[in-house]
Amino acid sequence: MQNSTFAQTAAGPCAGRCRSSVRPLWDASRRLMGILMCLITSQLVAAAATLTIVIDAGHGGHDYGAVVNGVSEKDVALSVAQRLRQELQQRCGGNVDVILTRERDEYVDLAERARIANNARADLMLSLHCNSLGEAAHHTSSAQAIDGAVLFIAPPPRLISDIPPADVMQASATFNAMRGNRLTAIEMARLLSRHLVTTAARKSCEVRQDNLLVLTAARVPAILIEMDYLTNDEQARWLAGDDGQRLLAKAISDAIIEHALNNGRKISLY
Ligand SMILES: [Zn+2]
Repeated sequence: MQNSTFAQTAAGPCAGRCRSSVRPLWDASRRLMGILMCLITSQLVAAAATLTIVIDAGHGGHDYGAVVNGVSEKDVALSVAQRLRQELQQRCGGNVDVILTRERDEYVDLAERARIANNARADLMLSLHCNSLGEAAHHTSSAQAIDGAVLFIAPPPRLISDIPPADVMQASATFNAMRGNRLTAIEMARLLSRHLVTTAARKSCEVRQDNLLVLTAARVPAILIEMDYLTNDEQARWLAGDDGQRLLAKAISDAIIEHALNNGRKISLY
């Protein structure tokens, strides 16, 4: 009978052979499934991972930055930093971790500001400032004619040629990491530039590079934002006012969220 033949075959020597040939296949497919599940899970975790943003309110304490018409750069920077944190937390909830380098009117060393971002392994560090032509130029017609935002990123890193052989691997890894951070900062600067002109209605937003310590000491993507000119009376009022600071926080958070979404980070709640 077919059934008995089948039963015999299944119970006979063949069964052992079959088990021995099927089981490795089964084990292999289970291992493959395990690997796939790990990959899928790690992708989901990566997609849901918290975005860490360090906001550096420039100057502080005895360092007022530019002071024009009674408006201090340090106060504008801190106020926009706090509004930006609130905006990001409202829009992203627990998907974003926002760290301020200073919470109050206090001086924080420039290297310490970069260290805070490095220790947090931040996805991005933004240093907030206001531009100025100097107090002496304040009442000149040229100062009143100059306005607009400016973004600074660090210049390209240089690979030193006379590295001791034992340090070549480490130097190369650092160089590649810095180059990667700078490329991210360039991408981010493009978005910031667009949103500062559209959402925050700045006249223009140039992107420049400079060896600013807060940028060169950062081992994370870092950008310094000159939000506009305090030496331009109209822009000084806008920078110090509620509407201006609200729009700046909105524009900068728009850029941060767009960059995160472009890179597969689903951080926005709406
Ligand atoms: Zn400044």
